[in-house]
Amino acid sequence: MKFNTKCVQAGYTPKNGEPRVLPIVQSTTFKYESSEEMGDLFDLKASGYFYTRLQNPTCDNVAAKIAALEGGVGAMLTSSGQAASFYSIFNICSAGDHVVAASAIYGGTFNLFSVTMKKLGIDFTFVHPDISAEELAAVVKPNTKAFFAETLSNPSLIVLDIEKFAKVAHANGVPLIVDNTFPTPVNLRPFEFGADIVVHSTTKYMDGHACALGGVVVDSGNFDWEAHADKFPGLTTPDDSYHGLTYTKSFGKNAYITKCVVQLMRDLGSMQSPQNAFLLNIGLETIHLRMPRHCENALKVAQFLESNDKISWINYPSLPSSKYYDLATKYMPNGTCGVICFGIKGGRAAATKFMDSLKLAAVVTHVADARTCVLHPASTTHRQLTDEQLVDCGVSPDLIRFSVGIEDVEDILADIKQALESV
Ligand SMILES: *Cc1c(COP(=O)(O)O)cnc(C)c1O
Repeated sequence: MKFNTKCVQAGYTPKNGEPRVLPIVQSTTFKYESSEEMGDLFDLKASGYFYTRLQNPTCDNVAAKIAALEGGVGAMLTSSGQAASFYSIFNICSAGDHVVAASAIYGGTFNLFSVTMKKLGIDFTFVHPDISAEELAAVVKPNTKAFFAETLSNPSLIVLDIEKFAKVAHANGVPLIVDNTFPTPVNLRPFEFGADIVVHSTTKYMDGHACALGGVVVDSGNFDWEAHADKFPGLTTPDDSYHGLTYTKSFGKNAYITKCVVQLMRDLGSMQSPQNAFLLNIGLETIHLRMPRHCENALKVAQFLESNDKISWINYPSLPSSKYYDLATKYMPNGTCGVICFGIKGGRAAATKFMDSLKLAAVVTHVADARTCVLHPASTTHRQLTDEQLVDCGVSPDLIRFSVGIEDVEDILADIKQALESV
């Protein structure tokens, strides 16, 4: 199947007489004829469904579609993007370990890493994505277990040089985990550039309609855990909670994602509901049509803003004037995303006036769905960060995050024009 066909059809192939549309298997549990059969499932000697906290057919079909879109060997849905980021790291790190993370990341992820995961004994060093390969290599420690970054950061829209990060990570025997929420696999497939694990907040463009929270972890199957066995004992030595099974020996290229499901999801339980997975799948069926429209509309809006004298600065990586234009052209030749960041002359006060005057574009916490929306991160999503941390994350106090939807672009531009007149 070609990419667009996968968006519509991958993951679920009904057999004779089965529903054409992916069914919602709204059941916590699954029936077996004997306790012995079920015991084999619990021991992972046989594969099959037994309890929705571990696996559910609706969720699995949607996970399989996303794995196909990213070009991975397997995927696991989670209840939110936050859960996906947490699992992606906790699957290979424990107390005493260290992770190198980009500083330009979603505010919630930054809190998760710098406060909550720190309490679990996992230490993070944050580096600016523009760091040189030499400087990046210099922050690696003997206990470093992973690199983490966003391919296109929310909200600062910094384009990650994936190859640079992958090279340094691999030279140090650790995987590169990337959050690919903003470009989606329609615009960028990070495995093709050396990333090992991809996570998404499916809440954003994948769902596309702001209906359901969700996340996903996708495994490329490319990282050789056995080659660095001493760093990843959780994957390469026996798991006592499965009578001494070793993931790399039993599951080969699927070791990482299998452990994520059968150990972490079993124990922590932040699975996506089958109902939400059903909604996510409907979103995925049109993502290849929606993303180009988001990008086309956003480019027109960005060009308009760039030429308006009330705008003090603008960052949209698809604009030739952007510092990240060359990286965007390399990694996302067909477009980046629908989100634009800019500042208005007059700073914070002017930004608030502008936002309050918008009529079509709604002020919401959400980003990246069909409807145009707008947010002031410094007073909302990034509220917990100090001014210094804000600068590190690429979020200036006057930054407006404008998420261009798939409405008629003339209406979006008219709304912006009338709001700018009020400033
Ligand atoms: C929203 C977002 C998250 C968190 O996802 P939730 O689904 O809100 O938990 C993580 N990363 C990025 C890039 C996001 O935009």
